[in-house]
Amino acid sequence: MSHTDSARAEQIRANLRVARDRIETACDKAGRDPAEVTMIAVTKTYPAEDVRILASSGVTDIGENRDQEAAPKAAETADLELTWHFVGQLQTNKARSVASYASVVHSVDRARLARALGTRAEAAGRRLTCLVQVNLDEGSKAGVLGPRGGVDPADALELAARIDEQEALDLGGVMAVAPLEGDPSTAFGRLEVLADRIRDRYPRATMISAGMSTDLEAAVERGATHLRIGTALLGDREPIVG
Ligand SMILES: *Cc1c(COP(=O)(O)O)cnc(C)c1O
Repeated sequence: MSHTDSARAEQIRANLRVARDRIETACDKAGRDPAEVTMIAVTKTYPAEDVRILASSGVTDIGENRDQEAAPKAAETADLELTWHFVGQLQTNKARSVASYASVVHSVDRARLARALGTRAEAAGRRLTCLVQVNLDEGSKAGVLGPRGGVDPADALELAARIDEQEALDLGGVMAVAPLEGDPSTAFGRLEVLADRIRDRYPRATMISAGMSTDLEAAVERGATHLRIGTALLGDREPIVG
């Protein structure tokens, strides 16, 4: 391993310790068992070598938001037997590719996508866990701040049913991104209420995917079971153009 490689490994390991401490502290505060909370390392824009470093430090769950980037990275690290989470907006024509390596799709936001994923997973002989992505951006449906994706909360149960009816899909629960403005805790509180309602009807849909680098504490407080952490582990990303 070259000097720069080991410096990178040390940096990532130090970041991991800080992130794990934050999660543990947040769990303590909320009276929750840290074992209930899975940290997904979101590696978008970072190379497969970083995935290897994370895996060597005990990370088992990796998140990506673009299929063009995720598919080759998952292939390059197939020997590590990681669990891949797709967290970005997904076009139906990418469903076949995503269904070939992902275990969980967090960003199901329409019935057509649920059908495409169901068909492709079945053809590949795989099962996919799918989450209903919920839009928590109240009052900006037309996108004053730009939509961050997801169904209107009022339509979440209907979309859950569309996922549940697909043979090869398991309805896992809900996912959301906090609105750009306002208190993330309040927004995640609304997600928690919705998650409860969905779980009343589908008892196995126990996942709440919420919380990123800047708001993971609020997410843990509001019952998140899965945190999607990028920059806190790997550093600030270069903006993607186009
Ligand atoms: C990039 C991304 C994350 C990680 O965000 P950070 O702020 O880097 O922790 C989480 N969720 C989604 C959907 C993302 O696209």
